[in-house]
Formats: sequence, structure tokens, C-alpha cells
Amino acid sequence: MTSNAALRLVRSDDAGEPLAERARRLAAASREDSAEAILRRAIVEEFPGRIALVSSFGAESAALLHLVASVDASTPVIFLNTGKHFAQTLSYRKRLARQIGLTDVRDIAPAAEDLAERDPEGDLWRKDADRCCHVRKVIPLQRALAGFDAWITGRKQFHGGLRAHLPVFEAAAPFIKVNPLARWSPEEVAAYAARRGLETHPLVGEGYPSIGCWPCTHPAGPAEDARAGRWRGAAKTECGIHLIGAARAN
Ligand code: SF4
Repeated sequence: MTSNAALRLVRSDDAGEPLAERARRLAAASREDSAEAILRRAIVEEFPGRIALVSSFGAESAALLHLVASVDASTPVIFLNTGKHFAQTLSYRKRLARQIGLTDVRDIAPAAEDLAERDPEGDLWRKDADRCCHVRKVIPLQRALAGFDAWITGRKQFHGGLRAHLPVFEAAAPFIKVNPLARWSPEEVAAYAARRGLETHPLVGEGYPSIGCWPCTHPAGPAEDARAGRWRGAAKTECGIHLIGAARAN
């Protein structure tokens, strides 16, 4: 990496404000803000034309997708189509985007040459889930985010684990990540979607409170954490897209 390239990883704007300081400043300024105000600050004021939402179109996605659309329905929405989603997720992604009126949903797939080289049989998830997530999620997302300065996530503190102290703005070089629903409870997420009549993912009614790829997603009981069915029986709790460049913003 050249010294100029290295510099870009820690600087976030033309004024040269270090990325971590910018994230801390934005998080502090947003301490009392609603999710919509946080999104307006990010989409309209701080990163106009340079921010995307990354959505799994999963169990909790509808509220954030609707909030983003209420600020700007043309905000790019990146859907990582890993090739391992439930058929219900793929059809839901189409219906929900139409219902909400999103105009720029981008289906991002792993590169064919990457799959041919690293997962030719399509069963890498059985042998090495971290490498499977890397080729099917992390690499495609890195490519899709080229040209953006910030991205919006649907992570929440109630998910626990690494997310328990999630700030609403965080530095993740070379990006700022925005987590407008970080402080929301499960009840608030569900109530927001219900009030607006947003369609629920069809698998929620079958006992899936968190939904990812079919080989790595199982139902979870009401007494379990929402993400207990993800990579059930393994130590893995994150797919890796939120671990790259992570740094505490406050
Ligand atoms: S969640 Fe499972 S199938 Fe999907 S990319 Fe990760 S390891 Fe592969």
C-alpha cells in the first residue's frame, strides 16, 4: 500500500478530519436524535450521494428500509445475494422493495471466478463457514461499496455480543458506518413495521427471528436470543462484513 493510499484509510473527508474523530463527533451530536433524524443527518447532510444501505431483507429489515425511503427513496440499497438465500427471502426482497417504493436496490452476487476458485462445489459452508462468508459476502460487499464513504446497517444493541455497545456512528476504515436503530428494542422495530402495514418476512411466522443463508439459519425459541439460530452449534456469530475495519467510535 502506498503512503497516500494508507492516508485515505484514516481520513474521511476533504478537510482531513480523522475518521474516528468524525464518527465520535457525529455520534455525540446524535445522542438525543431519533432514527429518522440520524438518517437525515447521514444521507442529506454528511454523505449526500456517498452513502448506501446494506440490507439482508431479513426478519427485522422492513422498518429501516422504510425509514431510509422516508428520507430519500433513491438511496442505494445493497442486497448481498450470496446464492444461498431461502427462496422466501428472494421473493420477499422484491415485494418489500416495491411496497416501500425503493428505487435503487442493487443485487450483488459473488464473482463467478471467485466461486469457481474457492467454492466450486458450493459446499464451503460445511467445511469453513468463515471462508464461505468471505467469498460470498465480504468480497462482494467490498466491491459494491467502492465509491461510497459511508454505509447504513440494521444492527441493534439488543442483538448482544459485539453489538451490545453499538454507537449510532462508528469508524470502520475506510468508511463511517451508521446504525440508526442501534438503541431500538425488538418491540419498537416490530411496532414501527406494523403501524405502517409493512410485509413481514414469511419465515418469521415459522420461528425464524433472524434470517440469513439457509444452510446457516435455524429457528430460535422465544426464550433464546434473536440470533441464536444463526450458525447454531458453532462459535461463529458474525458473517464478517461488520468486522472489517471496525473501530470503536465512542
Ligand atoms: S452464512 Fe453460511 S452459506 Fe451464507 S455465506 Fe456465510 S457460511 Fe456461507
